[in-house]
Amino acid sequence: MSEFDLITRHFAALGPERPDVVLGVGDDCALLEVPEGQTLAVSIDTLSAGVHFLADCDPEHIGHKSLAVGLSDLAAMGAKPAWATLALTLPEADEDWIHAFAVGFGRLASAHGMRLVGGDTTRGALSVTVQVHGLVPRGAAIRRSGARLGDAIFVSGTLGDAGLALRRILSGEPVVPELRRRLECPEPRVELGLRLRGIASAMIDLSDGLAGDLGHILRASAVGAELELERLPLVSQVAEVVAATDDWKLPLASGDDYELCFCVPPERIPTVERLAEALGLPLTQVGWICATPGLNVRRADGHPLMLPAWGYDHFQVADGRTD
Ligand code: ADP
Ligand code: MG
Repeated sequence: MSEFDLITRHFAALGPERPDVVLGVGDDCALLEVPEGQTLAVSIDTLSAGVHFLADCDPEHIGHKSLAVGLSDLAAMGAKPAWATLALTLPEADEDWIHAFAVGFGRLASAHGMRLVGGDTTRGALSVTVQVHGLVPRGAAIRRSGARLGDAIFVSGTLGDAGLALRRILSGEPVVPELRRRLECPEPRVELGLRLRGIASAMIDLSDGLAGDLGHILRASAVGAELELERLPLVSQVAEVVAATDDWKLPLASGDDYELCFCVPPERIPTVERLAEALGLPLTQVGWICATPGLNVRRADGHPLMLPAWGYDHFQVADGRTD
């Protein structure tokens, strides 16, 4: 089967048709209409085999995750998903693999009303690049730079689940399906991001861990933060590891949480609590914004936790992590 047949068979109609797609897959360019009064939000991410996913990972999950990471970026700006483009580099034209990938990608795209409008297909080491396009009313996007003194800091969901799943997979230990799903099929918090328009002062999605990603908000907003470890929302497996080792790297500095971290002025805390109920998603206050620069992390007994240099940088020496 030729490259073109593969594309039309699997990628020509992923996600719902949309009236703002004048022309989708099949020509030299897609033609897209940005509605009057809306701003286009764009983000691109590459997932490489062996770095962002294990090469033997279920292709349906790779399809899901390669779009989920971009949807999480749109969520973090309060942007509504609209269109995606996909650059696929494949070692071979394995049709079963491509079919499963398209199923995972297409299911998540449909769930968020997003249409695949174009891409590129080449031969080489397995790598997936997805560009996402979202729409946000002019002036309504939620940036990293809006945090203010006294704001409450919230996170959605639970932290460190994906990190624990990865740790267990790499060491050959059994992983319960709920944990594996958090690593391989993260659910981007798109609805939460949209509902936080006009409520959150600053927001970021957690892809590298709370300590580092909250640090981006703090630098962009020129403020500091107090974080209380006892407030961190943890599933029991993560809480057990932390209790046994006193190693906070899992909830604070492991990748792939794909939760949202956001700041709200104190008078909006009840609004956030109502939102958590409406969405059926835990939204937990983990600290607040203060004037002292940097991130101060406090243990349950009030003593500070010294933060090691946990940050992950793709161009520094690898430490065994795969994100
Ligand atoms: P060109 O050579 O003009 O860049 P291509 O042969 O790369 O065109 O692609 C033909 C059409 O198929 C284009 O509309 C392109 O956007 C689309 N396309 C190619 N690969 C993919 C893919 N992996 N997913 C979605 N659309 C794709
Ligand atoms: Mg091309």
